[in-house]
Amino acid sequence: MPPRPEIERLWFDPAEMLTGGVWRPASQTLPIEDPSTGSEVGALARGTAGDIDEAVAAAEAARAGDWGRMTAAERGRILARIGRMVLDRAEDLAVIEATDVGKPLRQARADALALARYMEFYAGAADKVMGETIPYLDGYTVYTLREPHGVTGHIVPWNYPMQIVGRSVGAALAMGNACVLKPAEEASLTALAFARIATEAGLPAGALNLVPGLGEEAGAALAGHPGIHHLSFTGSVATGSLIQAAAAANVVPVTLELGGKSPQLVFADADLDAALPYLVGAGIQNAGQTCSAAARILVERSRHDEVVARMADAYRALRVGPARADFDLGPLISARQKAVVEAFLATAPAGSVAARGRIVAEAPKGGHYVAPVLLAGPGPDHPLAQEEIFGPAQVVIPFDGEDEAVAIANGTRYGLVAAVWSESGARQMRLAKRLRAGQVFINNYGAGGGVELPFGGVGRSGHGREKGFEALYGFSALKTVAARHG
Ligand code: NAD
Repeated sequence: MPPRPEIERLWFDPAEMLTGGVWRPASQTLPIEDPSTGSEVGALARGTAGDIDEAVAAAEAARAGDWGRMTAAERGRILARIGRMVLDRAEDLAVIEATDVGKPLRQARADALALARYMEFYAGAADKVMGETIPYLDGYTVYTLREPHGVTGHIVPWNYPMQIVGRSVGAALAMGNACVLKPAEEASLTALAFARIATEAGLPAGALNLVPGLGEEAGAALAGHPGIHHLSFTGSVATGSLIQAAAAANVVPVTLELGGKSPQLVFADADLDAALPYLVGAGIQNAGQTCSAAARILVERSRHDEVVARMADAYRALRVGPARADFDLGPLISARQKAVVEAFLATAPAGSVAARGRIVAEAPKGGHYVAPVLLAGPGPDHPLAQEEIFGPAQVVIPFDGEDEAVAIANGTRYGLVAAVWSESGARQMRLAKRLRAGQVFINNYGAGGGVELPFGGVGRSGHGREKGFEALYGFSALKTVAARHG
């Protein structure tokens, strides 16, 4: 029997996995690490290719059974029940997430509420996805049906497990797909908790199957499985490209939510008091381990020094410490991630560090802490302004005029989100069109994370959209029925 995790809120054994409605122990386990301390706090199921086979078969059986026969309204009712149970257990989920991911408790609480919101949103949306009738030739009636793909595979990363499971699995279940979920080996606990709640809420056996494990083992087996009809992947560009190749081999659709190097554009006429919390907050949230982190702050030259000075003041006040003590930033997810971030930061040109935050004295030595760094100096082509660092670092870059701002903003391989800070309505409208991104924010950043708002990227940030009603189209296939009746 693997050791019980030392996470007091955990009410289940994470060394088990779920297939066909049955929780069963894995044949092997992986260590669960608390990034705030670097210590091992439990054992996680390590699924194999055989476990993935079993999960896919169980999902297929669910499609052919109770789950497949359920009406959209009934599916919605189950999702609503899951949402209520997530709310009831929100504090447990937040503590578990903070411990597993290393994110400050207040962020983990927000993530738990977001998970509940995804369930509420897709519960209400499940029975509102409709086809159309299409005017056609005399003697014909033509209409469309939106049908589930069948078995959907979901591979999620470690940075926002609850939010990403909610948006991806929530929408897929609402459409009547049966899901196989592979959470990240670094942070699987809230995905397991979610599956436990879903089981307790009455989700039929096999509608959701969960196999934790390594990416190259369980993840690759899922991505390449011939029984999968749609793949949803959130993670790095390198892995996303492998997933797309696997999907291509089986000729199945794939949604890729990948990285970013997202800019906020600050024009001389911006309301800087309003902008400042968003300029800094969107860079350091989750210690910068956010796909839509505002990694680049582009500022019209006349206000560049002022923005750097004010952001630097804010940075100097930032505190980094253990997740559950709820400082501004927690640790990074792993020693590996910390090494990657530090290697990036070592390339900063001399004199370009405008300010740093501080790691608190009580931060355990084994934790993966990195003090946030504000950089002013690296130009738009410097790797620090081009590559996704996925750590607490932002680069401030000056620009002259709208055309240069757009050229710099659009000048990376990515295109996830972007923001414009300006009081000019005409400029807001122009830039919303010119910026290469899946979401554009005007005088805000992130819009509170809205589960209602379609989300996804262009370029290396991926393709396909999740969140909002749009996701339901992605998790369904359109069938056209043409009846000739004379
Ligand atoms: P990753 O690609 O290493 O891992 C993501 C998931 O893929 C994990 O579950 C992992 O086990 C699995 N995986 C790894 N190798 C695999 C393989 N060969 N086959 C199948 N599955 C495999 O990414 P990460 O480092 O965990 O996450 C960070 C990245 O995710 C960043 O680039 C970030 O920008 C991106 N991200 C994007 C979004 C978004 O919505 N666009 C959200 C969060 C994170």
